[in-house]
Amino acid sequence: MRYPEVRNYIGDGFQPADVQLLDVFDPSSGEVISRVPLSQRKEVDAAVRAAKAALPAWAATPIKERVQVFYRYKALLERDIDALAALVTEENGKIASEARAEVLKSAELTEFACSLPQIAAGEILEVSRGVECRVERFPVGVVASITPFNFPNMVPNWSIPNALALGNTMVLKPSELVPLSAGRIAELLKEAGLPAGVLQVVHGGQEAVEAICDHPDIAAVSFVGSTKVAKIVYRRATANLKRCLALGGAKNHLIVMPDADREMTSSNVVASMSGCAGQRCMAASVMVAVSETDHIIKRMVEQARAMVPGKDVGPVISAAARKRIIGYIDAAEKAGAKVLVDGRGAAVKGRDGGYFIGPTIIDQVTPDMAIAQEEVFGPVLVIIRAKDVDEALRIENASPYGNAASVFTESGGVARHVMEHASAGMVGVNVGVPVPREPFSFGGWNESKFGVGDITGRGSIEFWTQAKKMTTKWNSEAGVNWMS
Ligand code: NAD
Repeated sequence: MRYPEVRNYIGDGFQPADVQLLDVFDPSSGEVISRVPLSQRKEVDAAVRAAKAALPAWAATPIKERVQVFYRYKALLERDIDALAALVTEENGKIASEARAEVLKSAELTEFACSLPQIAAGEILEVSRGVECRVERFPVGVVASITPFNFPNMVPNWSIPNALALGNTMVLKPSELVPLSAGRIAELLKEAGLPAGVLQVVHGGQEAVEAICDHPDIAAVSFVGSTKVAKIVYRRATANLKRCLALGGAKNHLIVMPDADREMTSSNVVASMSGCAGQRCMAASVMVAVSETDHIIKRMVEQARAMVPGKDVGPVISAAARKRIIGYIDAAEKAGAKVLVDGRGAAVKGRDGGYFIGPTIIDQVTPDMAIAQEEVFGPVLVIIRAKDVDEALRIENASPYGNAASVFTESGGVARHVMEHASAGMVGVNVGVPVPREPFSFGGWNESKFGVGDITGRGSIEFWTQAKKMTTKWNSEAGVNWMS
């Protein structure tokens, strides 16, 4: 194996766990590269104890001091970017440039956390003569973050820098499919000066997540993953009286108008559907082609056909994911859709065991087909035809998801109409992957997010803190106002 057995990180370092191990695969070759422990309640308990022990001192550290750790952490992410990106490529499969972009995004998220002393300052006002009200933000306590496979470095960094800079201590439960990056994140934070116990990493799957949702000493749970599991986690954590923010899956619609710029639109749509092998919750999944857009589709087909699996497009995460995605394509074809670009036969020389699928574009898809409704999570774009923008919006609005939507047009009026009426939390105009950059927050609508607030940026401050409202009056002011 390329890597030793993965270990949990509890207190001041890695700890062995006497539990069942699961193989970790390199998706580009199918080789086993490590094994990950499937932690149970006992391991979660130990992690929570360490986080609880570290909480008082960390919460009492002034925020301006806490963020010093993150200035250093950002520099370490930049110092080690090549190695961190290579690790992401090995465990997740994404190509080198995508893995590098992911680590750069982690650095940007950390940069935002460094600005929290400026942004999260409280409020104060003299509300009556000699009487002051003030609001101060306090940490929530021990919090947990549960993350998916598709961004092993970035998604943990959606929650770690903000939650910790705001004074919480954390148990991170990364995806068991990609456990390697999380250990490096813990090591880098230690090197940056994070005190022992402020961050724990507990590996595992369903049992570890259930133990987190049930643990009486965990105050808040953030989750990023599929809608199916987001619902389970949201229900279980809130039933146990915790605050919970659970981000789910997606089915993002890109509305392409006939006046859209041909080159920009085709390259943005193809990059959105094929980037990270379509395994982004912001990936284009449905293109709603309004009226006469064949010239744009023709160009998209040329661009998608020119992409080389293994070089321009990485593999999907597992053999099971590959089979599921091909099943969607087969079923759509059988139901009468037309496969314009077919990635089902993708093969990469010397990588026979890899889980590759090439970019796939399918036309004449109807809204009732499974491939038009369900999250495929692979490099597959379906095209649904619409006669006008309102029909396109009706198709978009009918999806139970609501992560992202985009419109491609040169018309400001049409763009504004879509921005207003798309039922999605993140909307783009001439942008294929409309991820808001810091300090703007990330989060969808509908079945793409359960809970209040967003997971990054300003929107996360409310989630990771609790506000204390304080009112003061001193003896010399007694009797000059109505406060008793
Ligand atoms: P997943 O839901 O299978 O797993 C996410 C986490 O939940 C993992 O840590 C996993 O161990 C755990 N888990 C899995 N099954 C569980 C169960 N039955 N009970 C409790 N915990 C369980 O998601 P994934 O396949 O790792 O990631 C892909 C999904 O994540 C896609 O649906 C994608 O759209 C979504 N995603 C969403 C966002 C967003 O911001 N909305 C971002 C990234 C990924």
